[in-house]
Amino acid sequence: MTAPRSSLPAFTCSICAEPSTRICTWCTKDACDNHLCAHCLRCSDCCDCELGLDPEPQPAKPPIS
Ligand SMILES: [Zn+2]
Ligand SMILES: [Zn+2]
Ligand SMILES: [Zn+2]
Repeated sequence: MTAPRSSLPAFTCSICAEPSTRICTWCTKDACDNHLCAHCLRCSDCCDCELGLDPEPQPAKPPIS
């Protein structure tokens, strides 16, 4: 029995050419997890998170009741 080829990635990262299963929601280019921002779902070319990243201090751990 041959398993159906369902594990093949649908895309290839346009930046590092690694297998990817996602695309940039902004330019719709293929981007792997390393080059796709988890916050805005954009590729590193479109992501503005780093540019607009504010050096806000890390808050203390909230009290978990
Ligand atoms: Zn990549
Ligand atoms: Zn993009
Ligand atoms: Zn981002």
